[in-house]
Amino acid sequence: MSNNPMNNPIIDDMKQCKEILWINSRAGEAADLPFSMADIDDAERRLKRFAPYIMAAFPETEVTGGIIESPLKEISAMKALMESDAGAELPGRLFLKCDSHLAVSGSIKARGGIYEVLKFAEEVAMKEGLLNEDDDYSILIEDRFRELFSGYSVAVGSTGNLGLSIGIISAKLGFKVTVHMSADARQWKKDLLRSRGVTVVEYEDDYQKAVAEGRKEAAKDPYCHFVDDEGSSDLFLGYSVAAKRIISQFEENGIICDDDHPVFVYIPCGVGGAPGGVAFGLKQVFGSNIHVMFAEPTHAPCMTLGLITGLHDEICVGDIGLDGKTAADGLAVGRASRLVGSIMETLLDGCYTMEDHNLYPYLSKLAESEHIFIEPSACASFSGPLQFMNCPEYIEKHKLAGKLENSTHILWATGGSMVPKEEMESYLAFQ
Ligand SMILES: *Cc1c(COP(=O)(O)O)cnc(C)c1O
Repeated sequence: MSNNPMNNPIIDDMKQCKEILWINSRAGEAADLPFSMADIDDAERRLKRFAPYIMAAFPETEVTGGIIESPLKEISAMKALMESDAGAELPGRLFLKCDSHLAVSGSIKARGGIYEVLKFAEEVAMKEGLLNEDDDYSILIEDRFRELFSGYSVAVGSTGNLGLSIGIISAKLGFKVTVHMSADARQWKKDLLRSRGVTVVEYEDDYQKAVAEGRKEAAKDPYCHFVDDEGSSDLFLGYSVAAKRIISQFEENGIICDDDHPVFVYIPCGVGGAPGGVAFGLKQVFGSNIHVMFAEPTHAPCMTLGLITGLHDEICVGDIGLDGKTAADGLAVGRASRLVGSIMETLLDGCYTMEDHNLYPYLSKLAESEHIFIEPSACASFSGPLQFMNCPEYIEKHKLAGKLENSTHILWATGGSMVPKEEMESYLAFQ
């Protein structure tokens, strides 16, 4: 066998836009990671400090005391439907992690995106001597803070949902905010942001171009904070807090994660920040008995490509002839994050891809069986459970034989609750 990673037969299939499944042989190896549990704890504490502000600024978060968190729901009817369609059984229980219904911005970006802007606001206010860690942060809704923040700006490049989260929270705090949107971004996301006073700049190009423009604009202005989706530690750690909060949800649902009770988590991946942060957190909290897999569109499998070749952000999907175009707009990313790829080398258990035309049937089936509505990107993970459970190589590698009946599968639904009704109806009608 040649050592050239491009000779991997999986890459040949990827070039032809075939759905693939890749098992990470390096999963579980010891590695020097740039973050630790202490960083997750720090992010969790910061979000707690901000809870009184979030509750005051977004009254829909009163029920959770200003903590932006999503339910974990067992979806047995969907499981039955998936099994009858496939003519195969899925051992264990199936859950949906409903980040699609996170308060404030309706996607997983309400974790990392909001966290990064809050951290920036805290820094600015503390530097001015107007805020201390033990203050009641609800004072941040006062005019004097909005005035202070109006002297600063925030910029971000996005395919849509990160722009929504950054735009909504920044505008609420009083920052000037510019969102650079790629061609993939849906019109309703741009309209919604403009209605909140956010400056939206549109590009005919892809996500990478939108990010580059945002970076360029911010570099000119010392009072501008650029949210760098291709490498931000703050975003990453904001996402990772999900893992600590899911511990009590496991207890409430009787979910055990130990040597005899494996848990499998399937997350749609774009640039890698959101699923990477969640995966890092889950591995810190639960160790190797939690298995994490990333799902990507066949036309934009940048994380899979970076991991297989070991080249991470030094290779893009265009290099293997793919166009990066997909109906999974949140995953329309051609090049993986420069931060996340190397962290995933030893943490991630596997990757797989889905063709666009397979997204919509899952979207419809979830609506029909569970009355839960999610966006196309959030459906990219749904083929994972049956594929991995029917993969003898994976079962053998992790010595899972005999344990699968005790297993739990969690599909991480990454977005959807803010999709306008007519738009959702068009997804449901698309077969
Ligand atoms: C952003 C997003 C993802 C993936 O997150 P990345 O950080 O880009 O990998 C998945 N699904 C939805 C709906 C998203 O908005």
